[in-house]
Amino acid sequence: MKIQLLRLLVFALAFSGGYLIMTANPSTFQTFEQFMRGRPVIDVHMHLTKGYEGNEAYNPQGLTEGDSLDQLKLKWTQQEMEQNNVVLALAGGTAKYAGLYAEADEDFWGGLQFPCSKLVEMESPCEKEFFTYDELKELYEKYELKILGESVYNYYGIPPTDIRLEPYWKFAADMDLPVGVHSDTGPPKVDEKERPNYSPQFANPELLAPILEKYPNLRIILMHYGGGYTEEAIALMKKYPQVYCDFSAICIMMPKQIWEPNLRLLYEEGLGDRLMFGSDYTGTIEQNLRVVYDIGWLDNEEKYNILYHNAARFLRLKEEQIISHYREVSTMYRKRSQR
Ligand SMILES: [Zn+2]
Repeated sequence: MKIQLLRLLVFALAFSGGYLIMTANPSTFQTFEQFMRGRPVIDVHMHLTKGYEGNEAYNPQGLTEGDSLDQLKLKWTQQEMEQNNVVLALAGGTAKYAGLYAEADEDFWGGLQFPCSKLVEMESPCEKEFFTYDELKELYEKYELKILGESVYNYYGIPPTDIRLEPYWKFAADMDLPVGVHSDTGPPKVDEKERPNYSPQFANPELLAPILEKYPNLRIILMHYGGGYTEEAIALMKKYPQVYCDFSAICIMMPKQIWEPNLRLLYEEGLGDRLMFGSDYTGTIEQNLRVVYDIGWLDNEEKYNILYHNAARFLRLKEEQIISHYREVSTMYRKRSQR
């Protein structure tokens, strides 16, 4: 009888809040909304493209007269950021869109996705596939651009050491620009007409070693950590303290059984304070934030470091900027609650 009672008690505990109290970390007791309250987010991985007619996020009904699709997408992106506490986004695109977003709103740190390809519809208008050093300088001064990336040289079919990319690395080093680098073995499939020379192996972070040897202070974000090239990413990060990473795309598109052990490894290697938040795909900010919120073995402080503080350190934000970001989030909340 006693044993039966004990079994019953264990059973009851396992399926009640008691089990949670025994096993879960503090964030389990908070809703996602409570977790996010008052917390700024830096999104280090955003792509800027033209606006598309009939896009289900920002233009579900199709174009109405007088609307500009580019402006519609820009406004919708600003709203999405505001709804998710994003106070700063590192946003890459072709010169036209990097310029458009950077000029519209200082919460966008714009820059060139490089190199663009004239064959790729999403990269239009690609006025020039490869810029010279002087052209980069002129462009960056004109639009006050602040970052470089994401790199797409693996899609283009060349390694990072290709001579045509040298001006980009040198310019980023000279201007101290953060550079986002695509560093995963995927995606597994691309449009062959747009990307006839796609070479996923060129995204191996190991190939950045000669560039970092030449420019040892270059600040790099290894994008898509946690899928392929995990060991190579860790080796590079261990050697260069200014190399950080995001786990965008991987954390929402790959099974958790794949990326989670790799994420644990990052923390075990003492590199957890170099993980930053990135959304990558348009319209997925909240989905990506929820992934961070749901990681049971990280405490809240570590999670807030992913969302903001690791990036603030990487980007060398000043204390005033950090304070103003916290203020900005309170204003966002006030605006939302008045709606
Ligand atoms: Zn990306």
